[in-house]
Formats: sequence, structure tokens, C-alpha cells
Amino acid sequence: MIDVSTQSARPDVDREELEFDVLFVGGGPSNLAALWRLLDVIEARKLEGLTIGLIEKGDEIGDHAFSGAVLDPSALEELCPDYLERGFPSEGLVGEEEVWLLTSERGGFKFPFTPPYFRNHGHPVVSLSRMVRWMAAEIEKREIPGVDVMLLPGFSGIQVLWEDAPDGSRRVAGVQTADKGVNADGTKRANFEPGNRLRAKVTVFGEGPRGHLARELEEVLGLQAEAVNPQVYEMGVKEIWEVPEGRVSPGFVLHSTGWPLEGGESGGSFVYGLSGNRVAVGYDISLDTADPFADAHLALQKFKTHIRIAPLLEGGKLVQYGGKALAIGGWHSLPRLAFPGGLLVGDAAQMVNAARLKGIHLGMKGGLCAAEAIGEALATGDFSEASLGRYPKAYLESWAGRELRETRNFHQVVAHGLTPWAGLRLGLGLLSGGWVPGDPLKSEVDAAGTETVERFYGKAGLKRDDVATGVKFDGEKLIPKLDDVYQSGVMHDEHQPCHLKIVNGDEVCVACWETKGSPCTVFCPAQVYEMHPDEQGKVRKVEIAFSNCVHCKTCDIKCPEQNVIWTPPEGGGGPKYTLC
Ligand SMILES: Cc1cc2nc3c(=O)[nH]c(=O)nc-3n(C[C@H](O)[C@H](O)[C@H](O)COP(=O)(O)OP(=O)(O)OC[C@H]3O[C@@H](n4cnc5c(N)ncnc54)[C@H](O)[C@@H]3O)c2cc1C
Repeated sequence: MIDVSTQSARPDVDREELEFDVLFVGGGPSNLAALWRLLDVIEARKLEGLTIGLIEKGDEIGDHAFSGAVLDPSALEELCPDYLERGFPSEGLVGEEEVWLLTSERGGFKFPFTPPYFRNHGHPVVSLSRMVRWMAAEIEKREIPGVDVMLLPGFSGIQVLWEDAPDGSRRVAGVQTADKGVNADGTKRANFEPGNRLRAKVTVFGEGPRGHLARELEEVLGLQAEAVNPQVYEMGVKEIWEVPEGRVSPGFVLHSTGWPLEGGESGGSFVYGLSGNRVAVGYDISLDTADPFADAHLALQKFKTHIRIAPLLEGGKLVQYGGKALAIGGWHSLPRLAFPGGLLVGDAAQMVNAARLKGIHLGMKGGLCAAEAIGEALATGDFSEASLGRYPKAYLESWAGRELRETRNFHQVVAHGLTPWAGLRLGLGLLSGGWVPGDPLKSEVDAAGTETVERFYGKAGLKRDDVATGVKFDGEKLIPKLDDVYQSGVMHDEHQPCHLKIVNGDEVCVACWETKGSPCTVFCPAQVYEMHPDEQGKVRKVEIAFSNCVHCKTCDIKCPEQNVIWTPPEGGGGPKYTLC
């Protein structure tokens, strides 16, 4: 199990125990939809005497919310049919849509029609950060007699609490939050605040991609055992620009693939027109890429130089930046969704349609189905796995399950780019409801795919600067990584222990530098990892600027040696997204 002893598992600390009926971990759209619907169920069934809590590691709900995003409103309409009248923060409804296959900085062609997966006409473009703030505010307005609802931002769940069942099996009993005010050596500071033990009859884990607690659940319960594929991911970065009035209409949508990706990986761009003369411009790269120097941030900077894109941003200025992993495994990577004492929802359960680059509606639908099952458990007092098992059954049989099933092989088909053979199989999958020859197509963990520099570039000893050429950062249009990171508003108390754990020693990182050129120093969208030679010209350790970390989790996923574990820092630290 992951050792978090420098953070919270300390025998010298008295911890408060708080009892909840239901505890949600993570204040993303999946869990907020679940909490909102649960309150509907509680009200409809006139249940009383309940305490419900939600913890979120961001200082405020929304601070760590990061997405594209065009929202498929299916789940939101089920949750709140009059969302537009209730002040939902839509950035604009999708009107004009363009899909491009780019071939070079000046080349490419626009599809004469919008391919099926990219059809978003009439859907809202959103800032996920603004959207979840709105959801939290709507939840806070609710007053239900006999029901206490606590939204608790600023608290990181650091460990799962376990109970032993009489048959020797283990049951989730809640979550412990991280201590605050701890020095790097583990000693307490004057502002020390112990983490609490939050006990609950049901805990809903909606931590987003690569959850730290979900990792512990997997280690103890083996939730992935029956899935065809492991959990797999993309990573995406985006910049928000303010541009001259009238340049990009709210609701404008452009997607592209192809250039500047050159390493046979899958990925692509998105450009979304927002309200207030703002535009989101982003880039995603699939993390199973073999290229040790794959870098979504660099791809985004190159993409901005394309002749279709550069004029959109001309005369504008960068106002926010962020990065995050995105779960893309879908149907074949779904873990067990219900287990004794707990449920998994959203990206934490790979509920994303990689073909459409959309997970918000699928995670929210997970929340809705989870809430119905929890409501039933609260009403009957039956919290057994069989009772909570109503949730996966309802989800898998719903439109969300169908959508995931029909795109179950998409990522595997395009994993090495949009080749003609991939295009043929995509067409077949569309016609057959997801079947392609070889179904189910297998994938492996993303970290396993990274090649050595010698094998990928045909020459040993190359370093990233030898291959990353062609972008002239000027700080105005083409933004160096660290300047971008500044725009994420990221902040951590620098006295605390580093939350990025090197598990098998620096020697592993040094060996990786020699053979694979230290991919972490490249893929990290916040330049957290650096390798510097000492006075003897030898690289001996990895340097970690953890205070820059935007909590994207890519290092935990893609470190080729699996030598990094991302753990939640003390609550309140991290990015400060307001427009992402
Ligand atoms: C670049 C990019 C573009 C995307 N574009 C789109 C799009 O256009 N449309 C679309 O539908 N989807 C899109 N997605 C996917 C979408 O953002 C996700 O599917 C969705 O956000 C998942 O919601 P969630 O609630 O499951 O998780 P998240 O949104 O990740 O929320 C999880 C929350 O839990 C908190 N948390 C995590 N661990 C802990 C802990 N231990 N303790 C306390 N709090 C914790 C986090 O801080 C976070 O606030 C995109 C994703 C990316 C990265």
C-alpha cells in the first residue's frame, strides 16, 4: 500500500471522528450531480435524520475543475430540465463547427461535413470551473428538514478507512483527510490541523482521472480484475485567450487532428468560442504514445502557429492556462463500480467517450444512477453490495452505458493515428454499434508504451532540446511552459512534504534520463520535474518543484518506470481555475 506516513498516518495525532450517512470525495460534476439527485430522492421519499458531506481538495469548489468543454446536456437535462432559466453559466450554444485534418503548419483540409462523433450543434460550451460552482451554489440553496448537507472544500481525502467484515473481507468505512501545517520532515508547525476521520455508510469516490484513493481501492479490492483493459488516459492542456471583439463567436467549435503530431500517436486540438470575447484553445495527446518526448504543451504552441489558428488569436492575450489527464478507456476499462461501502463515479471509473472527447455527461449520469441506488439504501437501511449493485446495473443499461459500449474500441483503433485502416475500422464500428474485427481490442497501461530515445529517434543520447525544434517562444503568442503555469494560479504551501513520491529511489530516475531522456521533464504541463547535472557534470537526482503541480496526474500515469506516485497535498493547494 502507498506509504503516506509523512502526511497522515501518525499515531501521535488525535483525530476527530465525524459520522456521515453518505460521503462524497471530490467536487467534480459527477459527484455534484450525485449529491443533487440524492437530495431530490431524499425529499421525494421524505427521509430524515441524515448527514451528507462532500470533500474537495481545491480551496473552493471549481478551483480544480478543468475540461474543454462542450457539454452534451443529456444528464443535465435529466437533473435540472430548466437549467438555462436557473442561471446555468453557458458560454454559448454551439453553432459553427469545423473539423480539420492538418498536414503541416500551412496545410490541411476541412471536412466538408461534420463527422458523427463531432456533432455538437446546439450544445452548450462551458467552463467546467464555472459550471461546478453553479452546481454547488444550487445545492447550497436547498433546505430539507432533518437533512444536513456539508460542502467541505479545502479537504483532501488521503486514505480510505476500512472495516473488516465478519467473513474476513474488507469494507470501505469512509475517508481520512490530510493533515495541514506539516513540515517537510513530518514535524508539526504552529498552524498544524490534524486530518479527520470521516466515517460513512456509503462513500462515493468521484476523484476524477487517476484518483489517489481509487488507487488504494484497486490495491485492496482489485476492482479492475474483470475489465478487458487497464485504465488508460490522454493528457490535455489549454489556454484561455481574450481576443479582439467579434473575432470568435461564443459557441464556435473547431477540432483537428494530424499535424503537429508526428510520432504516430493519437490526439488533437480543440478551439471553443466563449463568452466575453474569450476563446479556449487546447491540445490532447494520448498517453500510450511511444515518443519519450511527447509534450501536449509543445503541441499546443505549434498548433497555434497554424494559418487557420494564428489569426484567431492575433492581438489577443493569454488569461488562463491549465492541464489535466482524461480517462479514455471507456467500456472495456470500466472497473467494478459498486463494492462494500462504496461506489466509483465519473473519470475515476473511466466513464468517458474518447471518440467524442466527452465525459461530463457520462460521469453525471453515473452520479444520477448512484444517487438512486443510495436513496434506496437509505430508505431500506440495506447498504450491502447487492443493494448498491443497483447502481452499476442501472448505469450499464442506460443511454450512457450504450454510448460507452458503442465506442468501446475507438481508442484502440486510433491509438497509432488516423491511418486509412483505422478510418475503415472506425466506419465499421459506427455501422455495427461498436464491433470491429478483433473486438474486444486490447490496450496496455500507458507507461508500458514509452520507447527508449534510441529506439524512437534512431539515435542514443539525444535530449529533448535536440528534437523539440521549430517553436520560437516569445512569451506573447507562444508561451513558455513556466509562463503558462503562472496563469494557472497554482499555489502550494512550500513547507509541506512533497506530495509527489519517488518510490524506488533517484537511481531509477537517473537510469531513465540516460535511456529515455526523462519523459517526466517533458510531459509534465507544469515543468515540475527537472534533471540538472552537478559540478561533475553528472545527473544524480530528479528535482521536483512540487509547488507548480496543477494536479493533472500525468506523472503518476506515464512515468515509464512507475517511479512516481501522486498523492494529494494538504487541502486548499493547487491551481486556481476560474475560466477553465
Ligand atoms: C483537456 C480536456 C478536455 C475535455 N473536454 C471535454 C469536453 O469538451 N466535454 C466533456 O464532456 N468532457 C470533456 N473532458 C472530460 C471531462 O472534463 C471529465 O470527464 C469530467 O470532468 C469528469 O468529471 P468528474 O467529476 O468525474 O471528475 P473531475 O472533473 O476530475 O472532478 C474531480 C474532483 O475531485 C477532486 N478530488 C480528487 N481527488 C480528491 C481527493 N483525494 N480528495 C478531495 N478531492 C479530490 C478534484 O480536485 C476535482 O475537483 C475533457 C477533459 C480534458 C482533460
